Amino acid sequence: MSRIAFVNGRYLPYAQAAVHIEDRGYQFADGVYEVCEVRGGQLIDERRHMERLARSLRELRISLPMPLPVLGIILRETIERNRVRDGIVYLQVTRGVAKRDHAFPVPETKPSVVAIARSKDRAKGETTAAAGIPVITVPENRWDRVDIKSIGLLPNVLVRQEAREKGAGEAWFVDRDGFVTEGSSSNAWIVTRDKKIITRPADHGILRGITRTVVLDVAKKLGHTIEERPFTVEEALAASEAFVTAATQIVMPVVQIDGKPIGNGHPGLVATSLRAHFYEAAEIAE
Ligand code: PMP
Repeated sequence: MSRIAFVNGRYLPYAQAAVHIEDRGYQFADGVYEVCEVRGGQLIDERRHMERLARSLRELRISLPMPLPVLGIILRETIERNRVRDGIVYLQVTRGVAKRDHAFPVPETKPSVVAIARSKDRAKGETTAAAGIPVITVPENRWDRVDIKSIGLLPNVLVRQEAREKGAGEAWFVDRDGFVTEGSSSNAWIVTRDKKIITRPADHGILRGITRTVVLDVAKKLGHTIEERPFTVEEALAASEAFVTAATQIVMPVVQIDGKPIGNGHPGLVATSLRAHFYEAAEIAE
């Protein structure tokens, strides 16, 4: 089946789906994005993703290209045209096309909007989760506004490649004080030996993951004790469990950090249970 992308108002076959070379996303990474999970043909947590998109745009002073419900219609249409039942939909908004100049273009410049949808094998995700993933740690070297979901992801790209080359599934950034901030495309969590769930507060040091918000809800409903505070790599190494969260992975157990096993070296019970109960707290669109 040929794939279709939404590009600035039109649904186009992939071969023709392109933006202008002077799109500010292409030249300056001057844009933002969202990735939503599609499960059984339905959008997961659309409202929260759309609200975060609107916030990212506001922070960068890019105008909302259209009302959020219209963006929702585009996402659904893109999912449908690509016949995605299980997978992801990606939405990107940039400051638009203008003659190259660092400062903002004239206010009439229209933001560019691109949406793509892709199927993913759900069984494969479950197999990965059943085994858990190794992570590596890397020094935090990003700017201090990672709370904005910007398309400028070079540090994330480089550390993820480093992880891959070392046989790991994710890289955890560690700040100057030795505290884990987050993964290259996920939030980081541990479960202490006395069964407390720990994750860093969603201040400016991390992206406020939608999955993170939902998992906090699930954990509360399941009666867990939660502490939103930073944790060090040493504390993670001494933990009974670790895991990461992201819309593309839901709850993914971490079984090794820098080659050292976490807990018994297998996915933990808490992570596995949070993964199993996730959709009880997620918002599933009609
Ligand atoms: N942190 C970063 C840096 C990310 O790229 C992502 C994935 N978008 C997350 C956290 C997790 O966010 P979410 O749960 O909304 O996918």
